[in-house]
Amino acid sequence: MREKVNNFINGQFIVSGSNRLLDVECPLDGTVIATVRLSNRNDLDQTVRCAVTAQKQWERVPIKERVQIFFRYKQLLERHSQPLAELIVQENGKTLGEATAEIDKAIELTEFACSLPQLVTGEVLEVSKGVECRVEHCPVGVVASIVPFNFPSMVPHWTLCNAIALGNALIMKPSEVVPISCQRIASLLKEAGLPDGIFSIVNGDKEIVEAICDHPDIDAVSFVGSTKVAKLVYARATSNFKRALALGGAKNHLIVLPDAHPEMTGSNVAASMSGCAGQRCMAASVMVAVGKTDHIVEKVCEEVRKFIPGQNLGAVISRQAKERIERYITDAEKQGAQIRVDGRGATVEGKENGYYVGPTVIDYVTPDMAVAREEIFGPVISILRTNTLDEAITIENRSPYGNAASVFTQSGGLARQVVENASAGMVGVNIGVPVPREPFSFGGWNESNFGTGDITGKSSIGFWTKLKKITVKWNPESRTNWMS
Ligand code: NAD
Repeated sequence: MREKVNNFINGQFIVSGSNRLLDVECPLDGTVIATVRLSNRNDLDQTVRCAVTAQKQWERVPIKERVQIFFRYKQLLERHSQPLAELIVQENGKTLGEATAEIDKAIELTEFACSLPQLVTGEVLEVSKGVECRVEHCPVGVVASIVPFNFPSMVPHWTLCNAIALGNALIMKPSEVVPISCQRIASLLKEAGLPDGIFSIVNGDKEIVEAICDHPDIDAVSFVGSTKVAKLVYARATSNFKRALALGGAKNHLIVLPDAHPEMTGSNVAASMSGCAGQRCMAASVMVAVGKTDHIVEKVCEEVRKFIPGQNLGAVISRQAKERIERYITDAEKQGAQIRVDGRGATVEGKENGYYVGPTVIDYVTPDMAVAREEIFGPVISILRTNTLDEAITIENRSPYGNAASVFTQSGGLARQVVENASAGMVGVNIGVPVPREPFSFGGWNESNFGTGDITGKSSIGFWTKLKKITVKWNPESRTNWMS
C-alpha cells in the first residue's frame, strides 16, 4: 500500500487542499512507495496562523524546560533508529549503514540542542556605578526550514532542534522527492511532548518555497540545496526583509602530495567520493594530484573498485540524476580525459529499474572541463595533475564554491599552507570528509553559503535568536552622566 504523505499542522496530519500530486519513488528499484500532495498558499497560511499562536506560548517556557522535550526525543530516536534508517534507505536509496549513520547524526544534533541552556546564559556587566547592562537571547518567532533530498533526516535536524529549543516555531518544507522521514520526525516530536503548532510540515515544491519567502508572518528562512535555488531563496527572502541563511552546492577539492600515506589516502578519497553515492555536499569531487603521485592514484583506483552498486554503494536519486552523471563522464571522455574506473551502465541483479551509477575515476582532467568545474553529485572523482602545490591551490581557489577542501601529506608545513590558503569553510588534513561535529558548526564559504554564520552548532544561535540589551538602574544615588 502506498503511503499518503500529508502536511502536519497544529499537531495533526492534514490533507492539503491542493490537487497537485507527486509519486515518491524508491531509487533502489524504481517502485512508487508513496504519494505526496504539493501544498498551496492556503495550506501555508493555515500553518503559519497556528504557528504564530503556538510560538507566543512557547517563547514563555524557560529554555531549561523546552529542552526537556529534546532529551525525551533523543531517546525516541535511539529507540526507533532501525525503522527510521530503513525508511531512509527506501526513500533515498542509500545503504543501510549510511542511513544508520544519518540517524546517529540526528541524535548528535538533538544532544547538542539539549546543551543550549549552557550556551545562551547571556552576559551581564555593571557598566557604570549602579548601572547594569545585560544581554538576553530572544527567539526570532516563526521560522522556516527548506531542505534537500540527500539527507532526509539529518539535514532537517540541522535546524529543527536548535530553532525550537531556542523558542521558535519551525515550519519544515521537506524535499518533495523524500518527504516520508519528516512524517516520522513529526510523530516522534509529538510523542516527546512538543506542543502543537511548534513543529509543522508543509510539503511542496517551488510554489510553496516562494510562498514561504513571501509570507509576512515568517521571520526567518533557512535553506539547504543547490546553489541555483539557494540564490533565488536568499534573494527573495531578504527582499521581503527576512533574515535568511541559504546553503548551496559544492565542488570539494582534495589536494594530494607525493609524500601522502598511499593506503590512507586511497581509502579516504574512495570513501569520500563514493559515500551516499556521491550525493553529499561534503563529497570529494576533484583530486588534485601534485607531482609524482602515480602510486597514490593507483591506490585510489584500487580502493574505488571496492564499491559495488547494490552492495556497499547505494543508488542515486532518480533516472534523470543517473543520466546526468553518465553524461558528464561521457563528455569528459570525448574531451580527452581517461576513464580509469567506469561506473556507466551499472545495474543490480533483480533491481534492473534502480538508478545505479558505479564509482568512477576520471584521470587527466583539465581545469576547463565541466567535470572539473561543475557539481556532478554522483560517485565520480576527477583527477587533475599539477607540478606544484601553488598550482593546486590556485585550482581550488578558482572554484566558485567553497564548502570543503582537504590535503593529504605527511608534512605539517605543507598541510598548514593548504589550510591557510584554501578558500573553503571546512578544511581537512588527511581526511576525506572534513565535516565538523557538534559543538563545532557546519557551513561553507563563497557560493556554498549565502548569509552570515553557519547552520549548526554554536554559530546557529545567532541565526535563531535576536539579542535584547537591557540597561537597569535602581539606585537613586547613581550619578546621571552623559550616557544616562
Ligand atoms: P534543490 O536545490 O533542487 O532543492 C532543495 C529544495 O529547494 C527542495 O526542498 C526543493 O523542493 C526546493 N526547490 C527546488 N527547486 C526550486 C525552485 N526553483 N524554487 C524554489 N524552491 C525550489 O537541491 P536537491 O537536488 O534537493 O539537493 C542537492 C543539492 O543540495 C546539491 O547541490 C547539494 O550540494 C546541496 N546540498 C548542500 C548542502 C550544504 O550544506 N551546503 C547540504 C546538502 C545538500
